[in-house]
Amino acid sequence: MADFKYIRPDNLPEALDFLWDNGQDTAIIAGGTDVMIDVKSGKLDKKYLLDISRLDELKGIELNGRDLCVGSGVTLSEIYTSALLASNALALQKSAVNFAARQIRNIATIGGNVAHSSPCGDTVPSLLLHDAIALVADKKGIQHIPMEQMATSAYMSSLTPQQIIVKFILTPYQDGYADFQKIGRRKELAISRMSMAAFVKKDSTGRISFLKLALGACTPVPCSMGAVEAFLTGKVPTRELLWEAGGLLAERMIEITGNRSSTIYKKPAVQGLFMRILFPMVGS
Ligand SMILES: Cc1cc2nc3c(=O)[nH]c(=O)nc-3n(C[C@H](O)[C@H](O)[C@H](O)COP(=O)(O)OP(=O)(O)OC[C@H]3O[C@@H](n4cnc5c(N)ncnc54)[C@H](O)[C@@H]3O)c2cc1C
Repeated sequence: MADFKYIRPDNLPEALDFLWDNGQDTAIIAGGTDVMIDVKSGKLDKKYLLDISRLDELKGIELNGRDLCVGSGVTLSEIYTSALLASNALALQKSAVNFAARQIRNIATIGGNVAHSSPCGDTVPSLLLHDAIALVADKKGIQHIPMEQMATSAYMSSLTPQQIIVKFILTPYQDGYADFQKIGRRKELAISRMSMAAFVKKDSTGRISFLKLALGACTPVPCSMGAVEAFLTGKVPTRELLWEAGGLLAERMIEITGNRSSTIYKKPAVQGLFMRILFPMVGS
């Protein structure tokens, strides 16, 4: 294992000062569930490990008026048990249900999940659903980065080596139907091969009045599905209509990824996952 200098700042300004001078040579570590894999395999080519896990500025989940704020240092276990998320961001909470095992959930953070920029990051589709903005700090100030711009490609983020994600600001959704589901190689303890988050509201006539949909793991970066949202909004969801919309979703996925050897099974899988999530809307 390489020889790192371990730094644990007491507060955010101290961490940002350190990164300003040493960012290029530093790996930030929060829960360490991704970073430690690179440390152990010898792949991490840095001088310093900057531990941000104890910074108070990165903690907490709060509702400030119309802003639902989730600190980047919030763990998946905190997401799993938060009453505030249960009533304002249920899909995000559901993304923690089948996330690894409890030991990992107790230390893995939402900030690390986003910054790692894995296409399989389970919290990202739900953050897209809620139009989340990441508040990102460096020594010179704060930048607001929309979730769509956080990952530039698989495992590449738009963060500079001097920046730390402080928190995410989400639009809260109440009184609707929300879900997150994933498909992995196994039922438990599986990295997503495909994931989907949705939030739906219907009006008094049974029409879909509001729909947000995001897809993860099967595209290079998780993405919102505006074409499907537009197709279904204003319509009464029936089994046939949802099947058609699922087909549109699969076509959109293929437009992004191109036709691959896996398309033959991913196409029906994405349509099936969409049906599984949206079917409770039929006749309800
Ligand atoms: C056994 C196992 C099972 C797993 N299962 C899942 C799963 O089911 N779903 C899933 O999505 N992931 C899974 N993961 C991956 C991992 O647990 C998550 O990506 C986790 O959320 C990473 O958070 P962390 O705090 O541990 O990040 P770290 O490992 O500490 O950091 C990850 C990356 O983010 C950077 N970083 C961390 N915090 C910040 C910040 N605030 N600002 C800027 N950069 C930052 C680090 O420098 C590093 O590049 C699994 C991992 C393991 C080992």
